[in-house]
Amino acid sequence: MSPTILHADMNACYASIEQARNPALRGKAMAVCGSVEARNGIILAKSQEAKIQGVKTGEAIWEAQQKCPGLLLVPADFSLYLAYSKMAHHIYLDYTNRVEAFGMDECWLDVTGTDRLFGDGETLARTLRRRFRDELEVTISVGISDNKFFAKLGSDYKKPDAQTRIDRSNYKEVAWPLPTSDLLFCGPQTTRKLARFGIHTIGDLARSDPEFIRKLLGINGYRLWLAANGRDRTPVAPYDFRPPIKSLGCGTTFRRDLVNRDEVALSLRRLAKEVEGKLLSAGLSASRLSLSVRDNTLFQMGDDLPLPYPTQNAQDLADRALDIFDGFWFWKHRVRAMTLRASRLLPQPKAVQRAFFPDYPAHEKKEDLSRALFAIRSRFGSKSVDFAALYGYDYADLDRDRADMPTNKFVACAR
Ligand SMILES: [Mg+2]
Repeated sequence: MSPTILHADMNACYASIEQARNPALRGKAMAVCGSVEARNGIILAKSQEAKIQGVKTGEAIWEAQQKCPGLLLVPADFSLYLAYSKMAHHIYLDYTNRVEAFGMDECWLDVTGTDRLFGDGETLARTLRRRFRDELEVTISVGISDNKFFAKLGSDYKKPDAQTRIDRSNYKEVAWPLPTSDLLFCGPQTTRKLARFGIHTIGDLARSDPEFIRKLLGINGYRLWLAANGRDRTPVAPYDFRPPIKSLGCGTTFRRDLVNRDEVALSLRRLAKEVEGKLLSAGLSASRLSLSVRDNTLFQMGDDLPLPYPTQNAQDLADRALDIFDGFWFWKHRVRAMTLRASRLLPQPKAVQRAFFPDYPAHEKKEDLSRALFAIRSRFGSKSVDFAALYGYDYADLDRDRADMPTNKFVACAR
């Protein structure tokens, strides 16, 4: 059975949602923007009426107002958009559990084999469009295909509130004349490289030699070649799928620049504590650690080192981080920001040949202590127990996003 894959894209997402919520904005030239005062004073989305007058996403507010003097501006309300995104997912989930989100306003749906229940892909696309109009008062454009690339291409092909089928019966007529840059993951750099060899359209790409494309662009280029030929077979992930974690980290810009190694060491302890918490929550151990440091001229450098044992505990992470720091930092400038990142993650605990590693028992002790502290913090709050060295630490406010309140302070110490 040939797969049926839909790609649905909410049209002018933020602007449509604002219009759905506030009838006074409907039929008007309006745009959603970042704040006017702050640096992000740009247009994030515009209504159809504003689009006609030349307003573009990403341009500065003053530019948009010159083109469209009566433009109504609405500040972005991301929690509202997120709520709509969730509502959209719930509509899709009525038809399949294979719903893969791509950003806030786009999703792939694998509806293979649901014809008898919901009709063919085209029928289901019409049903979805009607439900979005009726239930959410926003419109979607839908691409219908047998693969993810052409489904996405179809949802871009005609909008708003439209649907386009691009599958093996018509892709040479519909997809091949389009520029390569219309293809998903064909960014500006790839487009330029292809253009240098006279490959301008998806059809040009499809007809070129796959070995040549692979040499030019690597494996991702070969994937694009497959896609251009309608031969992409990437599956649509189930809705509850979470990709495995590759790395965990924590970074901060300090309240004031750090001026000496002691301050850096202490700050690394503090960052390591955050990373430790994330590792323990995820049940993972790190076998590699990287540190990146930005100085007060905003110059950035970094390095990474393996950890002697797969590690979760903040002490070992901080010690290793300081080794990395000492390896590349020469105090030409003060330290403004640091990011600590753990990678090569392994499920804990891993069996270790203890006899080979004389200092392993000491390491194990620290891991046990970490887990014990983590258990206490999980129950009584992140500030319930800590190392004396970090008492009163205030170079960075890493707790500001935490909801839990400080409780009584205990001090632990590992030997
Ligand atoms: Mg969209």
